[in-house]
Amino acid sequence: MASGNTFFDDLRSKPEVIIDPPENEDILDGELVNDPTQLATKPNLVVSSSVRQLLECPVCLNAIYPPIHQCSNGHTLCSGCKPRVHNRCPTCRHELGNIRCLALEKVAASLELPCKYQSYGCVGIYPYYSKLKHELHCLYRPYSCPYAGSECTVVGDIPFLVAHLKDDHKVDMHSDSTFNHRYVKSNPHEVENATWMLTVFSCYGQYFCLHFEAFQLGMAPVYIAFLRFMGDDNKAKNYSYSLEVGGNGRKLIWQGVPRSIRDGHRKVRDSFDGLIIQRNMALFFSGGDSKELKLRVTGRIWKER
Ligand SMILES: [Zn+2]
Ligand SMILES: [Zn+2]
Ligand SMILES: [Zn+2]
Ligand SMILES: [Zn+2]
Repeated sequence: MASGNTFFDDLRSKPEVIIDPPENEDILDGELVNDPTQLATKPNLVVSSSVRQLLECPVCLNAIYPPIHQCSNGHTLCSGCKPRVHNRCPTCRHELGNIRCLALEKVAASLELPCKYQSYGCVGIYPYYSKLKHELHCLYRPYSCPYAGSECTVVGDIPFLVAHLKDDHKVDMHSDSTFNHRYVKSNPHEVENATWMLTVFSCYGQYFCLHFEAFQLGMAPVYIAFLRFMGDDNKAKNYSYSLEVGGNGRKLIWQGVPRSIRDGHRKVRDSFDGLIIQRNMALFFSGGDSKELKLRVTGRIWKER
């Protein structure tokens, strides 16, 4: 994964690099850097190798970002290393104290750096603080694994997560926009706070996760089924879905909008944004003998105009 440090690694390989104003993103690709006419016509900030050295932490050798600390002799240190040097300047061994180097912080903050999700496809280049803000909302930031049954910490883009769900979680994959699923449980009086099932549907060139799970709502066990969209919220809104559950002459229908997997499954579940089935009702649908839970959930996904 790309990080701010990669930028400085790039700088190290060249004797001198010109950084352009943000509207020209091509500058880092190389050609313009060596074009003397470009250099003459633009008010460029020349980042010399000595500035690069100033912004290198003497302990971890990474690029330093604000807050930047210094000793009373002016030696600088990154904020990550400061707690690790036991209040001694690593350069001159003097007491470190709590002095910030505001001038260098300003220099560091004015440098333009690529978004840390560059390796995921983002081409954004920003001054330090704008970069931090951008990265919180960057459209290329990786998604967390949508599998809810375990504490999975895998992140990645959608194709990567689809492969991960299939290979590592053995999730059922369907190339279809309709569902017809049966959820059967032999002892419906036991409700664990756990995901029962995740199924992935691919249709309209997108991927959707159908969650079905049981949870305890106060004293009452409840079942919920809902759909999540593997992508961002603005695209999720282009789709709708319906779910239907019934049996024994009774029927419940839910129509909804899939939620982005940026919203955690628990958040979706706790907001009740799905088909909710009270246990008593679920037992009616199952045949009413209270022995076994047998729910048949059907539904479909469609694209809004
Ligand atoms: Zn450091
Ligand atoms: Zn010092
Ligand atoms: Zn970005
Ligand atoms: Zn996972």
